[in-house]
Amino acid sequence: MKVTEHLKQAKCKLISVEIIPPKRGANIADFHRAVESIQPFCIPFVNVTSHAAEVEWQEQRDGTYRRRVKRKSPGTFGLCALLKYKYNIDPVPHLLCRGFSHEETEDALIELNYLGIDNVLAIRGDNKPRPVVPSHRTVNQYASELTEQVVKMNQGVYQDPDLFDAAKTNFCVGVACYPEKHFESPNIAFDLDVLLRKQRAGADYAVTQMFFNNERFFEFEKRARDIGVTIPIIPGLKILTTKRQLTSIPSSFFIEIPEGPTSNMLASTGRKSAREVGVDWAFRQVMELFERGAPCVHFYVMQNTTPFVTLMERLQKEF
Ligand code: FAD
Repeated sequence: MKVTEHLKQAKCKLISVEIIPPKRGANIADFHRAVESIQPFCIPFVNVTSHAAEVEWQEQRDGTYRRRVKRKSPGTFGLCALLKYKYNIDPVPHLLCRGFSHEETEDALIELNYLGIDNVLAIRGDNKPRPVVPSHRTVNQYASELTEQVVKMNQGVYQDPDLFDAAKTNFCVGVACYPEKHFESPNIAFDLDVLLRKQRAGADYAVTQMFFNNERFFEFEKRARDIGVTIPIIPGLKILTTKRQLTSIPSSFFIEIPEGPTSNMLASTGRKSAREVGVDWAFRQVMELFERGAPCVHFYVMQNTTPFVTLMERLQKEF
């Protein structure tokens, strides 16, 4: 089922999650354990992140540098197939602009179509150094262009202009948005315009970057509606689990953590107590988001599902 169909047909509060594929060489058993731990909560769809190859320069003994190209967490599509056919959960693979040519993206979409996967999240990817795409290949620069490519395939338009009567795909396309602004954008108005551009390109819904201050989301959503964004906007949350995240999250994601959870986290003693602070704050955020009409709440669970399971057990008592 498409994400938009889940949103339309929902008979209860929807909570979705995002997970990261295991690191290259890691055991798949952890992935199965993670999915099995969230299975009791009827999660409608699970996003699986995608990671492009990165270029690393390793210093050699003789002082020279060796260039290594490495994709750290491969396996997005394989995990999506497992989610769909082993666990009966709709997967949402992330598709990236960065590191992939138009042709590679088309091949990926063909594969997903064969697998019967209905959803993709069209994302640009970060700005790390990438292996150079051969000069005769072109790439999508922005997520709006990637969205256009998927939408064109839904209309039967492929990269090869001589290909007539090509099979139409039928993907539901999600995109990212940023209640506290994308760090490269000059201001929030510019960022909102980018979201509108993604909607015009054919995006069916948007998921936000994580935020810890609901007011930032409500303000962003209102401004988005004011400029004509009509697609569903799904708020994205993360559960704080350590004191270290009070500084690492703002510096990695360019978002603020409000004073309330900050002082509670600083006062926490030990891992369990820190996790309780994070779960408690996420619980309050979810309750308020649902009260104020959020269609679904999305959790950046990554690989450790324990705090999420604790939160869901608490939320189940409310709904
Ligand atoms: P875009 O929408 O392309 O925007 C990127 C920047 O360019 C923004 O500053 C925007 O304002 C600007 N811009 C956009 N269009 C134009 C234009 N036409 N002209 C000028 N400027 C423009 N990263 C991964 O590597 N793998 C993942 O799986 C992944 N999943 C994510 C899921 C979510 C829900 C979110 C919020 C982020 C995810 N990311 C992931 C991180 C994401 O790749 C980065 O945030 C990236 O820097 C921006 O991606 P985007 O799709 O928002 O880019």
